[in-house]
Amino acid sequence: GDFSVDWLVYHATYTGDYLAAVDLDTGREFTYREFYNRITRVAGGLNRRFKINKGDRVAVLAHNSTDFFEILFACWEIGAIFVPLNWRLAGPELAHILGHCEPSLLIVDEEFEEKLEGISTPRIVRRSGAEESDYEALIRNSTPDFDKQAIKVEDVAMLIYTSGTTGNPKGVIHNFHMVRDTIIHAAQHGEVNIRTRSLSSAPLFHVAGLNGFAMPLFHYGGTIFMMRNWDPARAMAYLEDPELGITHMLGVPIQYQMLAEQPGFASAKFPSLRVAGVGAAPVPRSLLETWQAKGVGLSQSYGMTEAFSVAFLPAFMAEKKLGSAGFRVMHTQIQIGDENGEELPANQVGEVQIRGAAVTPGYWNDPDATYKAFINGWFRSGDAGRMDISGAVYIVDRYKDMFISGGENVYPAEVENALLSHPEVARAAVIGVEDTRWGQTGLAVICLAADSDLGEEAVRDYCRERLAGYKVPGHVRFADELPMSPQGKVLKQVLQERYAL
Ligand code: AMP
Ligand code: MG
Repeated sequence: GDFSVDWLVYHATYTGDYLAAVDLDTGREFTYREFYNRITRVAGGLNRRFKINKGDRVAVLAHNSTDFFEILFACWEIGAIFVPLNWRLAGPELAHILGHCEPSLLIVDEEFEEKLEGISTPRIVRRSGAEESDYEALIRNSTPDFDKQAIKVEDVAMLIYTSGTTGNPKGVIHNFHMVRDTIIHAAQHGEVNIRTRSLSSAPLFHVAGLNGFAMPLFHYGGTIFMMRNWDPARAMAYLEDPELGITHMLGVPIQYQMLAEQPGFASAKFPSLRVAGVGAAPVPRSLLETWQAKGVGLSQSYGMTEAFSVAFLPAFMAEKKLGSAGFRVMHTQIQIGDENGEELPANQVGEVQIRGAAVTPGYWNDPDATYKAFINGWFRSGDAGRMDISGAVYIVDRYKDMFISGGENVYPAEVENALLSHPEVARAAVIGVEDTRWGQTGLAVICLAADSDLGEEAVRDYCRERLAGYKVPGHVRFADELPMSPQGKVLKQVLQERYAL
């Protein structure tokens, strides 16, 4: 079927004076008319000058900024495939991805050019803000004249390369079917509409940041407020500012944790905040309770690069289903299944498997990985979870983080939850390490709250009161910080390298 990305022209026509995008770092702001005007010039430049046509890939290696969305929507005007790249990757990793998706053009921030040695992809250099650059010159020197492409729902909209903790990064295909689906859920579960004023700081090269209250917001004509980097003190000030009137924020658990640690959090008022979405990593119970106590229910969602968000827990259900990632979205099914894709009974822990409109058709140029990702028509998330009889999904942990101690499965997230319920534990991560007696045992890495002198034995005693013996970490280490990915996931591999015995 046909699908039209006429969102920007629609808002430019009917609510053209309305604010589309604000760059909080540079102060640049664009109305829908201005924003669409720039988009059509980018599209004109890509199409006429760089000869980008339908199906060609355009890669972007850039910091978060409102330009990101100009390029995304310009690509969709001309039917090009948008490929956002993680700027934390090293040169060889980027070279691998670029060799794999073969973009016709790369738009790159000046400071990341040094990562591109030996890469011959034609490029446009960008600088932050309105500073003169190839990118600003492209907009200035191009006319809004291009071959507008008709789009079908099966067409590829984007490729997002996954972190690649297991082997080489894979390019997850997002088609317009998935884009359409995620727009629907943003309205239904995120209450995104024309009055939405969203504070956006998550990296735009991951689905959480790109999707959340960002890309779909432009469908409804809301306003995005972009932060280039996460900064809890600034974010807190923005949320408190009645003039900014932030209604939506999406964050990973650690961001909400950092906000809660800000001085003045207890008395801070967030006058217009309506939806505080959290996801992308297990959400500690204690964190949900901290925010609940403040009168802000965090809305959990569960998703992945391969399927956007497939489960939501509405804030009004948060207390009743505390700790749950919520219920499946419409048009998509979730089952807890075994390795053959057969459904398991309620409350039993198994793999979370997904089927339906939200799911990727597969990986770019990788039939092998695509084949392995599905069983019996279900996408295999690699997450352990269970479902109660009402259909609420509880994510237990990544299967690959699970370890076996004395023959019993231990899911680190459960142990971390217990540790984090201790008032003096600020951060906690658990990994499985070799143990001569039990095969494996847990090793907890803990960051203590300021002026705590909690010791190893006290930590283990605390766990013993709350957890079965085999879950109590055999080892406890203390650290100042935990290594985190930009998506807010603790880098367990780094902990393994650092602490494994
Ligand atoms: P990625 O593969 O990088 O797209 O990250 C997706 C993964 O993040 C999922 O497979 C889960 O392991 C994790 N994740 C996302 N949302 C949640 C959530 N609400 N609770 C627990 N884990 C989550
Ligand atoms: Mg994954």
